[in-house]
Amino acid sequence: MPGRTVSRRQFLKHAGATTALLGLSEALVPQLAKALQELESGKPPVIWIQGQSCSGCSVSFLNSNYPMVAGLVLDELSVRFHPTLMAASGYKAIEAIEETARELEGRYVLVVEGPVPTKEGGEYCTFGVEKETRDLMGHTVPKDKPINEWMKELVPGAAAVIAQGNCASFGGIPGANAGVTGTTPVMDIVAKIDAKKPVINVGGCPSHPDWFVGSVLDALMWIKGKKGAPDLDRYKRLRTFFGTLIHENCERRASFDAGLFLEDWNDHSPDMKLCMFKMGCKGPVTYADCPTRRWNSGTNWCVGANAPCHGCAEPTFYEKLAPLYEPLPDVNFIGLSPAVDTLGWVAAGATAVGVGAHYLYKQLGKKPESPSEGGDE
Ligand code: SF4
Ligand code: SF4
Repeated sequence: MPGRTVSRRQFLKHAGATTALLGLSEALVPQLAKALQELESGKPPVIWIQGQSCSGCSVSFLNSNYPMVAGLVLDELSVRFHPTLMAASGYKAIEAIEETARELEGRYVLVVEGPVPTKEGGEYCTFGVEKETRDLMGHTVPKDKPINEWMKELVPGAAAVIAQGNCASFGGIPGANAGVTGTTPVMDIVAKIDAKKPVINVGGCPSHPDWFVGSVLDALMWIKGKKGAPDLDRYKRLRTFFGTLIHENCERRASFDAGLFLEDWNDHSPDMKLCMFKMGCKGPVTYADCPTRRWNSGTNWCVGANAPCHGCAEPTFYEKLAPLYEPLPDVNFIGLSPAVDTLGWVAAGATAVGVGAHYLYKQLGKKPESPSEGGDE
């Protein structure tokens, strides 16, 4: 992608705005600017491959209304391969991956969008040609190359791996229930190849552009020695984006606490901003900054648009959090009065944690921990 000349002043301005926009500490502005400036002279190469993906996370990133951010990152990175963006196709496109892996070993960032199917020799998701083989008639025919084989080739030489979106990070929709394809999260595939390889998971279905950009920047600055290791939770997500419970910051939290719940989609009282817990909202068990960051350039977010949170940033999405419009189980609303402490099993002042803990305990059969607790990477 073409480079772009910017003055130092413009660069610092962009870096400052980018940092603020991503919700990173202002203290990081000088390091971010320096790291990105240095990248100008040696743009880190990126290989972006897709497993069981709908390309939604690519589209979400490209739909960002922050051309400054997308431009800055894309201009400063050298995206060598992206199946839905690149102009090249066929053998030429595949050569771009092979050349990058061979010539820039240890320096490229591997972005994987979608999980990796492992059953049937990985034949559920292939691109490029692995080797030639012979058909029943004895003719020489190419054999498709599974993404699992690409992972074995590309992970060892990658400086870091970014699992882009919930499906890549945790299995998501392809990994829910059926399991026909042997869907495997990217981090589990990487762990088998090189357990020490840095992996950052970017939750979301799709991921928020800021979550992805921020994760890539954080990894690059770390690789460049401009900052310490990424501050990840136990699910390998950046705490900056996935460190707060949606329920805690939701604009309808007052309705929840007051016992004012939407119970019928035909209830035309949107101005009341009723809590959607009973309509399936998974905000009480979902860690993400959607209420404050919002989507589409800060325009709105799910609950703000009268839709329950489906928990798409969580490792338990989709399988454990479906049906999406069914309420979290085992929550007794009988006799609920406007005061939160009448919920009984929830300590006043700790409603969010109480609901989440109760639900997860029942659903998963184990005591839940906040992603901030333990298991730090
Ligand atoms: S249950 Fe959902 S709608 Fe209700 S307060 Fe929590 S996050 Fe908001
Ligand atoms: S509010 Fe919930 S469903 Fe909506 S984007 Fe955020 S985590 Fe996903």
